Amino acid sequence: TMRESYASENDSGFKCLKPELRPIVVVGGYGQLGSLFCRLFTLSGYQVRKLGSQDWDQAEALLADAGMVVVTVPIHLTEQVIRRLPKLPEDCILADLTSIKSGPLQTMLEVHDGPVVGLHPMFGPDISSLAKQVVVYCDGRLPEHYQWLLEQIQIWGASLNRISAIEHDQGMTLIQALRHFTSFVYGVHLAEEDPRLEQLLSLSSPIYRLELAMVGRLFAQDGQLYADIIMSSPQNLAMIKRFHQRFGEAIQILENQDKAAFRQAFAQVESWFGDYAGRFMKESQSLLRQANDAAHR
Ligand code: NAD
Repeated sequence: TMRESYASENDSGFKCLKPELRPIVVVGGYGQLGSLFCRLFTLSGYQVRKLGSQDWDQAEALLADAGMVVVTVPIHLTEQVIRRLPKLPEDCILADLTSIKSGPLQTMLEVHDGPVVGLHPMFGPDISSLAKQVVVYCDGRLPEHYQWLLEQIQIWGASLNRISAIEHDQGMTLIQALRHFTSFVYGVHLAEEDPRLEQLLSLSSPIYRLELAMVGRLFAQDGQLYADIIMSSPQNLAMIKRFHQRFGEAIQILENQDKAAFRQAFAQVESWFGDYAGRFMKESQSLLRQANDAAHR
């Protein structure tokens, strides 16, 4: 499996940048993303403890000498879990992996006086290595105390992108909320229309197969996670409503059989994309060639 190949690929372990660090406690460490990070920390030589949902009676003992605490629980529970943490050692780093950043970061800063950092790995637990993956981070407090952590993540192969929590959450309105929502609705639509998937695929070019795969993969994951992501902020709903409105306007063009209006809108978008339109054409061609090769292997 993916997991096993990942483990064997890294059997030799990673360089440890902070060997003197006291234990890392991963709250939600039995979860999908939590397990992945526990494995990475362990492979890098850190002492790792998991604090699962059943372990709160031992929280004081697990956390008393923590060098770092990483919170990675379902989004809708994150802030209450952070508030539930006992007083941490002054020099302990408090971090989280939540897909939204403003609320959790604010809460971490409120409950802890020491170093705080918000992380958002831009990947799911199904990846085989961190190579070429991105981890976004938001500085909280005392960044000089967690530089080693950022460097450790780079040693795992990921690249880092620093952003403010507010800008992050604004960007995620398009990158996560709207995108996942349109996949969700497309899935709902397919299920209602109920075509035969086999037949659809047999009629499809690789690009449609890829598109279907992009939608279908959403439904192999956790509905709660996506409900939390999409409904995490009122600005997500506002963005989705604007999209819905534009959908309606585009349908009006069809109702009117107005090909001139369609072409005019098309040209406007083309000029908005500018150089990227051509670049994306090339980039998708090479992706499709790879997808095509993979399908015939
Ligand atoms: P998950 O459901 O697999 O894991 C969450 C874990 O938290 C579970 O083991 C659960 O038992 C545990 N938990 C629940 N309540 C708890 C409590 N009170 N105390 C301790 N543990 C508790 O979810 P996941 O997909 O690993 O997501 C975890 C975090 O990672 C979320 O904040 C999510 O936004 C973020 N994230 C997930 C992905 C992804 O693709 N899965 C990607 C990026 C970020």
